[in-house]
Amino acid sequence: RLRVLSGIQPTADSFHLGNYLGALRQWVRLQDTHDTFYMVVDLHAITVEQDPKVLRQRTRVSAAQLLALGVDPDRSALFVQSHVPEHAQLSWVLECLTGFGEASRMTQFKDKAAKQGADRASVGLFTYPILQAADILLYQAHAVPVGEDQRQHLELSRNLAQRFNHRFGKTFVVPEPHIVKDTAKIYDLQDPTSKMSKSASSPNGLIELLEDPKRSAKKIRSAVTDTGREIVFDPEGKAGVSNLLSIYSALTGKSIEELENSYRDKGYGDLKKDLAEILVEFVTPFQERVKSYLDDISELDKVLARGAEQAREVATRTLAVVYDRVGFLPIG
Ligand code: ATP
Ligand code: MG
Repeated sequence: RLRVLSGIQPTADSFHLGNYLGALRQWVRLQDTHDTFYMVVDLHAITVEQDPKVLRQRTRVSAAQLLALGVDPDRSALFVQSHVPEHAQLSWVLECLTGFGEASRMTQFKDKAAKQGADRASVGLFTYPILQAADILLYQAHAVPVGEDQRQHLELSRNLAQRFNHRFGKTFVVPEPHIVKDTAKIYDLQDPTSKMSKSASSPNGLIELLEDPKRSAKKIRSAVTDTGREIVFDPEGKAGVSNLLSIYSALTGKSIEELENSYRDKGYGDLKKDLAEILVEFVTPFQERVKSYLDDISELDKVLARGAEQAREVATRTLAVVYDRVGFLPIG
């Protein structure tokens, strides 16, 4: 079976609907067909300032959410990035193969650094995509399920894999992004031209999977739509309505066409009211499952320890080959 790897940052109290529809749903599905490695990327999280106590809590809550969404520890290695030291070790080697100019072209760094003030952005935030390449290449992953915003980082991972292979001999699988077009980018409900984001969305534009479902329903009902009245999928002209239709379609499995037909004689209010209900039905049992995983922290930590062990088996093998290829002296 081909391998899949992906990660998510423990940078918020909850995952959001964009994380789920853009990426995590694919994580769960790919378990049927691939060997899957999924992690909570705490090393990535500290590229921006984190409170240590909060980070630890969010790491567990992230793992619990992944389990509750259907990541199955009997079929996937589910682990915490810092439990596998090879990520940081391979990252250093890849940093030394990355051009400064090449790294400087990463748009996510530019966006995030601009928000913080360029002088305050950390070097870790700058080298983040190289650590991400290490994450992927360590596991010889063929496919990486992510949202559209990660496409450029994936391209860097591919370039680094090819560069290493070219210089030192075939070592890495060159990974492909696995991006599902219909849900590759879920938009902010209040600003439907920018992506829904843990760190950048306005509170009312962001649906957090762990917030009070009543609050989510209210946010859907007050989502920004345009002044027209027709319910049609037109991302350019009707960004707000189109975003709601994408979410609706993804949560119900109904096609956009089907939805356009069934809302032909109805208004925005009807669409929002129905979608709010659908969302509540999805998050309510999800939240119960998260709670039950968090009720038994020692079991949760055991699952993560087991995942790290499985991950390290692969990671140590890859790193040993890399160290040898670049010419490091073996321990005598
Ligand atoms: P941050 O703002 O801190 O970067 P984030 O919301 O982008 O947080 P990440 O942990 O960086 O969340 O991303 C986890 C996964 O979710 C990635 O695969 C990413 O591509 C995907 N993702 C994030 N936001 C969206 C979105 N709005 N639509 C679709 N996929 C998304
Ligand atoms: Mg992100």
